[in-house]
Amino acid sequence: MVQVFDGHNDLLLRLWQDAARRDEIFLTGEGKGHLDLPRMKAGGFAGGLFAIYIPSPHEGDAPDYMHMMDNPPYDLPLPALIEAAAAQPCALGQAGLFHWMARASQGAFRACTTAAEIRRAAADGAVAGVLHMEGAEAIGPDLDALHVFHAMGLRSLGPVWSRPTIFGHGVPFRFPGDPDTGDGLTAEGEALVRACNALKIMLDLSHMNAKGFRDVMQLSDAPLTATHSNAWAVTPSTRNLTDWQLDAIAETGGLVGLNFATVFLREDGRDSAEMGWEPVMRHLDHLLARLGEDGVALGSDFDGATVPQGITDVAGLPNLIQAMRDHGFGEALIRKIAFDNWLAHLERTWGA
Ligand code: ZN
Repeated sequence: MVQVFDGHNDLLLRLWQDAARRDEIFLTGEGKGHLDLPRMKAGGFAGGLFAIYIPSPHEGDAPDYMHMMDNPPYDLPLPALIEAAAAQPCALGQAGLFHWMARASQGAFRACTTAAEIRRAAADGAVAGVLHMEGAEAIGPDLDALHVFHAMGLRSLGPVWSRPTIFGHGVPFRFPGDPDTGDGLTAEGEALVRACNALKIMLDLSHMNAKGFRDVMQLSDAPLTATHSNAWAVTPSTRNLTDWQLDAIAETGGLVGLNFATVFLREDGRDSAEMGWEPVMRHLDHLLARLGEDGVALGSDFDGATVPQGITDVAGLPNLIQAMRDHGFGEALIRKIAFDNWLAHLERTWGA
């Protein structure tokens, strides 16, 4: 089976929201959501970035949110900024669950901080997890918490999920829409980029707006990364990357992970799993044309989005691999997209 290393999932949020049932959700698996240990093994999921994400207050009371994406055009308002003191218990809880996964699985899941550890886990048939933060709400302006989370294993960070932080501004969810939606990094954001460079924490541009993207591009000394974004030329969502952004990423030897969310894959921007492989392959072809064969990987958004019916959940990854074969991709290119490119990129970013 082709092994997959994946750029983004929201399993930690799902576990945190129902933490008393963590054993059933993760270890045993109950067929719900997209990810659990048995289905990871069944799908060839060798590992990935596991996001800490802070839900906004009352987010659960807004069932219309996803429904609004059923019928584009849409332009969803962004929730308000969350202070570090309010975000930290949640971030700590999700970091705790990440390390619980390693402990409770008795080595079947491993918390990794180097590419060598990920390669070793994959060779041993274990799932390799890397701790990521999607939105830096839990970090205050003094950046002390960044160093604490680094000590907990944090090796990847997006300064914003779309909601504003003290560090910058993200894209609102808008279709059709251009990612050029407002101000970029703040002075605190510039300090955060420098601190992440110094600590070798990968900076994630997914959810950043065009101005913030340019700010990171000018400041950061690392190859550029968008862990879970698609091609704007195919699906004109604010969350996707325009051609100049893809070219800027390519220029640094950077990487983009293909997002499986149907709202970012479908040309009509709809939140609906009823779709075939053509849009998926159109995005992959466009990303490959702009980024080259070393710059394209996967960033599923499992447990955070509606994914195409052909994938359904992590156990459906072999279907995606087969669709790439059917589309004419050779085995070497498939292995690059599925695994090798992420590992080479992490080595470039973190140091070997
Ligand atoms: Zn996201």
